[in-house]
Amino acid sequence: MIKINEHYLKLQASYLFSTIAKKINDFCEKNPGRDIIRLGIGDATRALAPACIAAFHQAVDEMARDETFRGYGPEQGYLFLREKIAENDFQSRGAAVDADEIFISDGAKCDTGNFQEILSTDITVAIPDPVYPVYVDTNVMAGRTGIARDGRFENIVYMACTEKNGYIPGLPEEPVDLVYLCFPNNPTGATITREALVQWVDWATENKALILYDAAYEAFIRDDAMVKSIYEIPGARKVAVEFRSFSKTAGFTGTRCAFTVVPKECMAYDATGTPHSLHSLWNRRHSTKFNGVSYPVQRAAEAVYSEQGKKETREIIAGYMKNADRIRREMDDLGYDYIGGQHSPYVWVDAKTDSWDLFDMLLTKAGVVCTPGAGFGSCGTRHIRLSAFNSFENVETAMTRIREALKE
Ligand SMILES: *Cc1c(COP(=O)(O)O)cnc(C)c1O
Repeated sequence: MIKINEHYLKLQASYLFSTIAKKINDFCEKNPGRDIIRLGIGDATRALAPACIAAFHQAVDEMARDETFRGYGPEQGYLFLREKIAENDFQSRGAAVDADEIFISDGAKCDTGNFQEILSTDITVAIPDPVYPVYVDTNVMAGRTGIARDGRFENIVYMACTEKNGYIPGLPEEPVDLVYLCFPNNPTGATITREALVQWVDWATENKALILYDAAYEAFIRDDAMVKSIYEIPGARKVAVEFRSFSKTAGFTGTRCAFTVVPKECMAYDATGTPHSLHSLWNRRHSTKFNGVSYPVQRAAEAVYSEQGKKETREIIAGYMKNADRIRREMDDLGYDYIGGQHSPYVWVDAKTDSWDLFDMLLTKAGVVCTPGAGFGSCGTRHIRLSAFNSFENVETAMTRIREALKE
């Protein structure tokens, strides 16, 4: 008899996006012609940079002729892209990362989800609350948790991120082997200071633990003095893996390209305490289960690092950040507390009520869609997430409507 992986049965159905969709549908049916502005989106809305499109087209043309056609590429990605990444994203900031420590993939969602597979199921995992749900669910699937009670799984150490700690998780007080950190954060938009990240790296070093650092929103950091990569912290190469993506930084959500950095010194241990290189384990996993990102997509990603590409992607991000500034200004005026939006496309607003109540109010009175914080964890039940991924005109209209709705 064929049997299932019963850990899948523990997963909590994510009602978040289906409930949002249903509420919007109901509203539209009752209010035909009312226009809805979506500020719940965690997806790029602006077109790819012209430099990326030109490189993309040219690579497609290469595939059209036998002389320049390419079949399977290296599973880890083409060196032309890995070298540009190492130089521009890391070495230029004093972070020692070599091209052969970079693994190109089709998404940071898959990478953050898959990486746990090379680690023992017998480890303790700490996860922030609120959180990008992928970290939790993939550990549930792997059998590292018990069942869920009141939205929290047994055997996961939840690290509350609240106003009290500035939305930065404190070091765990119990033994933990694996920690997920994400900065700038989705959903809160919070950023971590260099000092706090130093504490995390020191903690991991002392405890022989591993940090999985998700820096998918790194490009939204506007202050160059702030920490962008965990490898800017001394000692991080031994205890941290970093995930990056072209999705939010260059609008590749539909094009698909990301990468994971696994430094050669980064170790994990077998049952006897003997260290093993995570780089070689991940290389084995990646090349066994993955056959590379398509050549034209890697050329398009490479173009992000050309002079033209840098200028164009910077302008696109500046456009989203102008939206974030507009949202923050409105929240200031309306007297709502929030975090984020300064180095992140997300603004995490204290709803002063249940997150679904504010969601309903904004939808029915202002025709504006946000994301209720409850969908990201139990610490989100009194927050909403507003996203800057939209046009400035729409954000402007949405803010005007929210202001009028709240006056009523
Ligand atoms: C959007 C996002 C990613 C990127 O996912 P891709 O699969 O590369 O599109 C990774 N982590 C977080 C927290 C995100 O919000």
